[in-house]
Amino acid sequence: MNIVLFGPPGAGKGTQAVKLAEKFNYIHLSTGDIFRKNIKENTELGQLASSYISKGDLVPDEVTIKMLEDAANENPNANGIIFDGFPRTIAQAKALDSFLQTKRNQKVDKMLSLEVDDNELIKRLLERGITSGRPDDADEGIIRGRIEVYNKNTAPLKNFYMQQGKCVEIMGVGGIDSIFKRLASELA
Ligand code: AMP
Repeated sequence: MNIVLFGPPGAGKGTQAVKLAEKFNYIHLSTGDIFRKNIKENTELGQLASSYISKGDLVPDEVTIKMLEDAANENPNANGIIFDGFPRTIAQAKALDSFLQTKRNQKVDKMLSLEVDDNELIKRLLERGITSGRPDDADEGIIRGRIEVYNKNTAPLKNFYMQQGKCVEIMGVGGIDSIFKRLASELA
């Protein structure tokens, strides 16, 4: 199973992806986490990515797609993969389809879209910024910019998956466990 966990920044993708991966014994691939690991280790990729991430911009597709494919290739026999924060552009979604098809004879099975309104997202991200140490969570201007980038570049992906009958909208507000139950019931 290849699952895209979708939604704006602050929707709870990371939190829920960890729980779903554990329950279903899937691999969790978060492009944001991989970028942050590279930034921490000061790799060439990290240096390139940090200039985009700190401003709230998307890292260029070419770099992101290559990184994602490398990470997926490290797990050739995964039971399933939960993609968290990827794809974020139509080009990434097409690259993912082509990668899964040519390298694994697989496809994206489902896209679960966490629905949370903008005011709640901003509140959550500002709260997370107090403890996360993420510079892109610390500034309301950058947070608003990330939501704009989401609306412009990433939200159109819902249509891309909807047209294929793969998109399921999940209400992303309420307690972590109740949201988890809604998501898990779609994968059971
Ligand atoms: P996240 O942890 O998913 O919120 O991602 C943090 C930041 O990493 C984003 O604001 C982007 O700058 C960058 N990033 C993560 N995933 C992608 C992606 N699929 N494409 C481009 N940039 C990404």
